Amino acid sequence: MAGYAADANRTVAVYLASDARVPRDSVRNATVWSTRIFAGIGVRVEFRFSRPVRRGDRLSLELEASIEIEAPEERSFTEVASSHPFRPDGRIRLYYSRIQRLYQLQHTESQQFRDIVLAYVLTHEIAHVLQASDHHSTVGVMKKSWSRADFREIQTGNLQFEPRDIDLIRNGMERRWNTSRHANLLASVSTDRR
Ligand SMILES: [Zn+2]
Repeated sequence: MAGYAADANRTVAVYLASDARVPRDSVRNATVWSTRIFAGIGVRVEFRFSRPVRRGDRLSLELEASIEIEAPEERSFTEVASSHPFRPDGRIRLYYSRIQRLYQLQHTESQQFRDIVLAYVLTHEIAHVLQASDHHSTVGVMKKSWSRADFREIQTGNLQFEPRDIDLIRNGMERRWNTSRHANLLASVSTDRR
């Protein structure tokens, strides 16, 4: 696979903040699952729980995400998360009480299921931002809403990205990578001139 080696250095860093009422272990588990799902398609995603002391070069792809308890009122009642695929930081927001309802509807009380549903919602939103697109697929992770059969796949961590979505993610990352490299270059040029 050409270009794969170069991609290995391109880590997506997601700065994740969460409401203190969201169980810490759920957040940690969800990030481990999400990292694993992305690794399955050759994309390296790392979650960070605190901001860097200073933001040095922005060569890595840096996104921001938060897990909140309630959705803002303007959000439709079916939305469990939102993101801004066209902003550099993506501004991903997950609404925990709605995600909880989502897994409760599947009639299982397993903690692993709770965490993995959170992971898939997080993964879906990160993918939107990496694709720089609000497009939805008819199957897999990027479906607008998951069916009962999808939830069975989610439960075992086996719900996959459609191949087209993997291409969109890789192309989107390439664009972001080039844009950030270009921005850094411009920043260093303007610093040099001072
Ligand atoms: Zn979506």
